[in-house]
Amino acid sequence: MSATQNQAASQLLPVIVVGAGPVGLLCALELARRDVPVLVIESEAGTTLDLRAGTFHPPTMEMLGPDGVADAMMQVGIKVRHWQSRDREHGLIAQWDLDVLRNDTPYPFRLHLEQHRLTPILLEKLLAYPHAQVLFSHAFTGLTQRADSVQVQALSASGEVQLHGSYVVGADGGKSAVRKSVAIEFDGYTWPERYSVVSTTFDFEPLGYADNAYVSDPEQWIAFFRMPDKGPPGLWRMTLPVGPELSDEEVLAPAFARQAINRAIGAPESNNYPIVHQSVYRVHQRVAKQFRAGRVLLAGDSAHVNNPLGGFGLNSGIHDAVNLGDKLARVVHGRDSDALLDLYDRQRRTVAMEYVQTISIKNKENLEEKDPLKRQARFDEMRAIAADPDKTRAYLLTSSMINSIKRANAIT
Ligand SMILES: Cc1cc2nc3c(=O)[nH]c(=O)nc-3n(C[C@H](O)[C@H](O)[C@H](O)COP(=O)(O)OP(=O)(O)OC[C@H]3O[C@@H](n4cnc5c(N)ncnc54)[C@H](O)[C@@H]3O)c2cc1C
Repeated sequence: MSATQNQAASQLLPVIVVGAGPVGLLCALELARRDVPVLVIESEAGTTLDLRAGTFHPPTMEMLGPDGVADAMMQVGIKVRHWQSRDREHGLIAQWDLDVLRNDTPYPFRLHLEQHRLTPILLEKLLAYPHAQVLFSHAFTGLTQRADSVQVQALSASGEVQLHGSYVVGADGGKSAVRKSVAIEFDGYTWPERYSVVSTTFDFEPLGYADNAYVSDPEQWIAFFRMPDKGPPGLWRMTLPVGPELSDEEVLAPAFARQAINRAIGAPESNNYPIVHQSVYRVHQRVAKQFRAGRVLLAGDSAHVNNPLGGFGLNSGIHDAVNLGDKLARVVHGRDSDALLDLYDRQRRTVAMEYVQTISIKNKENLEEKDPLKRQARFDEMRAIAADPDKTRAYLLTSSMINSIKRANAIT
């Protein structure tokens, strides 16, 4: 950065970003790269280590290109060119080759990488900018909006802290305190079933599984992802639904994980698979009524949450961060009026509703369909799409989120 740019940044109030998750850190990075001073506050003592998102779609990789984030991810992630639609009873239904998108994107694949391996990359890139600051162990507690700025209250180990910024980005996750502080409703619902995540070193590849596979089953579908973990050969992660008849304790027991693997591969009950990790969580379909309230903007899970089928959650949060970072920088530098921030709301909220919610719900319904005729019709449809290159490309443009970006950009 040049001395002139640095001087320009130092004359501005910082944008305060709440949450050092992937969306908050990326939004801060987008702002910092555009000479906007940023202050990120995070309630935890460092970037978190939870096993959550893990698959990145082509347009997301394109957006992560600047600052070398995508390159750093590619060094440790797994490039997944093929993914599969499978059925527990009928086996492989269709295999999808993302290389058919090679003229649509420079990244014609999914990248598998644990979310907690992305956040340190983003943090390092962000802190390379002298006008970027991250305060860990600072929990947002409230804010007051003024005509030309925002006052933020945070709680640190040494007591309450007052912070002064030009705008606030709430990237503080599904339970967002920022969203609550401006009384934005979070419309939608919570699914009755919880989702279990099981990671194992048991290798599904010799059984014909691609690195990413969705297995339909009227009783218990499973989504498979091979994840890099600490290095080759990595781990297999399975996500599957669990009903209310099982307690969290039962779902987190090794016997549950082993039974799930046995069921997936049709093996007897006795195998002793190595289980590396298990978790269980609740899943919601919710979208904030608005993504902007004056000088407060919402992005990522604080603005929308959905089931993980299709891998849209973090990906769409990243799309928010990049869209917002660009617009907010233009407003902060006085190059555009703040009406541009309403365009952020219209573009990203529309896509969250029309695309992320609709398709993630449809994906779930397809995987758990109980009616044999509807199941068969879906298999026939997928086989027909897979047999036709034009239909395959059209299908993958939507499932890879390329169409969602085109849709958002078409909104003016
Ligand atoms: C099991 C699981 C699997 C998933 N798989 C996928 C997938 O395959 N693909 C996909 O795209 N998405 C997936 N998701 C969704 C994805 O993980 C989320 O969309 C993603 O974490 C959202 O990022 P975020 O930065 O918006 O929020 P978060 O990652 O939740 O980060 C929010 C941050 O804000 C901090 N914070 C919270 N409150 C405060 C406060 N008061 N003050 C300061 N800081 C605060 C938190 O500590 C956290 O660091 C999955 C989610 C789960 C649970």
